[in-house]
Amino acid sequence: MAALDVIGHEYTHGIVRYSSELSRYYEPGALNESFSDIFSNVIQEWVEGYDFNRIYTQAEDPIIGTGGLRSLHDPLNSGTHSYEIGPYCYLAPGHPNTYGGQYWYDGPCNNGGIHGNCGVQNYWFYLLSHFLSFTLCSLFFVHPG
Ligand SMILES: [Zn+2]
Repeated sequence: MAALDVIGHEYTHGIVRYSSELSRYYEPGALNESFSDIFSNVIQEWVEGYDFNRIYTQAEDPIIGTGGLRSLHDPLNSGTHSYEIGPYCYLAPGHPNTYGGQYWYDGPCNNGGIHGNCGVQNYWFYLLSHFLSFTLCSLFFVHPG
């Protein structure tokens, strides 16, 4: 099954690739991942309408029963972060919501922890869009028709 936010995520990667110099590694890679999470969920919200759990959760449909791949509103209790023991890479639950904070990873695994460290900007988006929603939702979440 192809979910709208998963397709939107990959499509946004294509836009970022040809419109910016964000790489797929370390902090630029984490921003790249986060932009794809953010815009994919905005696309999903645009098409399906507002639903808190859907707009702030990445890939909630394809991964049934797990609460999605990443939570934009609760990174510390969702997704995974990388860590290493010797030459081997591992994943553990949770990803960071603050730069350099809990679960922040800057080692070589997962291209420098891009699928975990994206939680920082994802969480920023949640705070900005949800708590300043009266002003900003009119910009981010304008519904067609
Ligand atoms: Zn991605």
